[in-house]
Amino acid sequence: MQVLLSGAAGFIGSHLVDRLLQDGHRVLGVDNFITGDAVNLAHLTGAANWSFVQADATSNDFVARMTDLGPFDLVLHLASLASPKDYLAYPLETLESGSTATRNMLEIALRFEARFLITSTSECYGDPLEHPQRESYWGNVNPIGPRSCYDESKRFAEAITMAYHRKYGLRTNIARIFNTYGPRMKLDDGRVVPAFLSQALGAKPLTVFGDGTQTRSFCFVDDMVEGLCRLMLSDEREPVNLGNPQEITLLEFAERIQRMLGTSSPLEFHPLPENDPTRRQPDISKAKRTLSWEPKVNLESGLATTVAYFQGRLAAH
Ligand code: NAD
Ligand code: UDP
Repeated sequence: MQVLLSGAAGFIGSHLVDRLLQDGHRVLGVDNFITGDAVNLAHLTGAANWSFVQADATSNDFVARMTDLGPFDLVLHLASLASPKDYLAYPLETLESGSTATRNMLEIALRFEARFLITSTSECYGDPLEHPQRESYWGNVNPIGPRSCYDESKRFAEAITMAYHRKYGLRTNIARIFNTYGPRMKLDDGRVVPAFLSQALGAKPLTVFGDGTQTRSFCFVDDMVEGLCRLMLSDEREPVNLGNPQEITLLEFAERIQRMLGTSSPLEFHPLPENDPTRRQPDISKAKRTLSWEPKVNLESGLATTVAYFQGRLAAH
């Protein structure tokens, strides 16, 4: 297949590019580097079936530019600010990546009658009142809080994706991704896995927000890429949760990293950011049923791979 993938220089995007190329597809990657890093794609320089264009998916000429580079069989929209640190710094760009950029990518898919997939998020559930979260849950989102630029942009992205499916019969898929980690996250990404690992490896205190009783469920990136590959070819048109259901408190997570790295880095408590979800765990029954997918990599081995990556990046600094 000919694939157009936005957000190619990002964490998940660059892994997905690798997998698509390995599977024999032709991939055109697009990124404006607002949070992405060319380092994530450096190994692909000169690779067969791979090309890259630096472009902003929200720009006025984006659809025309990409149309000239088509046709495409598959359009994958991953471009977005994704770390709370990033979307709080760029709220307007975040809203635009969920709205304008999503519409642009849908228009490109429509022109070529291509399949379309959007990477949505567990943030659509906000601070959830249902636990674990099933796709049928409509969420508990503060529409004007600091995180709303991300949550509402993704909720809009899901709405416009369903509208293109209903109005034009476009073959769309919506992945609701839960916290995912692995190599190629930036050292200063701000999300908790790179934050704790770079702090522990740098013998600095681990910054726990709130009292650490909030929970998350961490999925290794290889599992996520496998889930996305299955979803992008499936006939499931409604959102599907992709994530690892193994739930852990942030305090347990910090202690696990301390033990794993044998570090004496103390815990340093900071205020909990406004509207930080208190619990998060995916119900993945739908992904199991419709995609025959479930995560295979446990936290210990996923973290070991990620630590090795961060050690390499820190040594190169
Ligand atoms: P990331 O920040 O590493 O990658 C996002 C990429 O999109 C970056 O390379 C950035 O430069 C690019 N980008 C942003 N706006 C753009 C624009 N207007 N035009 C072109 N490129 C643009 O984030 P990630 O963790 O790889 O996330 C990828 C996708 O998965 C995002 O849509 C995110 O919302 C979603 N997601 C990720 C997680 C997670 O835990 N990693 C969880 C839920 C959802
Ligand atoms: N967190 C933390 N210390 C940090 C960064 C994050 O305790 O240095 C917490 C954050 O408050 C949240 C959880 O870790 O409860 C996951 O945060 P992250 O930014 O990774 O992703 P989120 O799930 O909030 O999108």
